[in-house]
Amino acid sequence: MKGKRDKIFNNRMVRRVFLCLLLGIGAVGLLSGCQGAGRSGRTLSASREFFAMDTYMQILCYGDNCEAAADAAVEEINRLDALLSVGRADSEVSRINESGSGVLSEDTRTLAEAGIRLYERTGGAFDITVFPLMELWGFTTGNYRVPTGEEFAGALKLCDSGKLFLEEDSGKLTLAEGQGIDFGGIAKGYASDRLAGIFEEYDLESAYVSLGGNIHCYHKKTDGSYWRIGIKDPLHPEQGEAMLGVVSVADRAVITSGGYERYFTDEATGQRYHHIIDPSTGYPADSDLVSVTVVSAWGMLADGLSTSCYVLGLEGSIELWREYGSEPGGEFGLILMTADGVVYVTEDLKGAVETNYPAEIIGTER
Ligand code: ADP
Ligand code: MG
Repeated sequence: MKGKRDKIFNNRMVRRVFLCLLLGIGAVGLLSGCQGAGRSGRTLSASREFFAMDTYMQILCYGDNCEAAADAAVEEINRLDALLSVGRADSEVSRINESGSGVLSEDTRTLAEAGIRLYERTGGAFDITVFPLMELWGFTTGNYRVPTGEEFAGALKLCDSGKLFLEEDSGKLTLAEGQGIDFGGIAKGYASDRLAGIFEEYDLESAYVSLGGNIHCYHKKTDGSYWRIGIKDPLHPEQGEAMLGVVSVADRAVITSGGYERYFTDEATGQRYHHIIDPSTGYPADSDLVSVTVVSAWGMLADGLSTSCYVLGLEGSIELWREYGSEPGGEFGLILMTADGVVYVTEDLKGAVETNYPAEIIGTER
């Protein structure tokens, strides 16, 4: 029963909040189309909408250098896409997968180190060597199919970051025979971190980035208020605007993973298969969570953790947060939703999240 659980806000408050949210979203859409708008009439704005990294991207920049910053941001995304895409034979990642080893560039080294660290921290729930499994399911080509048992056995053995060898001095990464790497679980978060760096360089007043739903907000909005980020309601995906909740942030990445984002349906059985793989089974993750949002100042961390928590499920995610959530220089918070429609919010985000689903606050104590 909805009313029996604690609610973060009462219904009237929530309704008011949702009204604000709708207005807020409208405002973002409105501002994205205009130039020279702003509180004082002086803040310039620039927007870019484009397709990269296999997804739709939107960038909004506010400040004197907004046009140059927006151009630099698009250029940076395209540069990273060319470097990291497993769909392009000439990308650095594809070349390494092809040859089994290679000296990493600065970007891929950062990603590989982060991937390996996440693998260790999540007990293998996050694993960049998931690539052979992604291939097996057809996610890398779009030729989707359900693999056979025999095929699984091989790919499952290859999915093990413990078999990667990254040479400290030279930066050379060596894969085990048959292994392949895929940074798809952290690439967009890394990209948004890079964009935040660019916005700093161009001294922007404010910026908002959506890389296929991976949000990164730079500073507050130009009117001094927090960015209000709506999280899609995974229980009502057919209602495009339905929200699980809203989180208010500044200088934060807000990254959501859910099985409803990218999937295919097996025509023979009607079964749906999505693109977040549980490395322990080789199958799409099938935990009790239907949505995971990670809020952090670090986009790459938030991205990797959203994928990880989706695999780990509610208990595992809470454990992970209790262990690492307040680590200096790597703090993060979670907004989780279980299939039964309960929202779980870690206590660091308590004042920032609004939802009209029944909600529970996760504390640091067991
Ligand atoms: P999205 O890309 O839709 O934002 P995610 O950030 O959750 O979603 O990343 C999903 C991508 O991560 C997959 O397309 C694949 O490239 C990669 N991936 C899938 N399962 C795992 C996993 N268990 N560990 C690491 N990467 C994964
Ligand atoms: Mg991710």
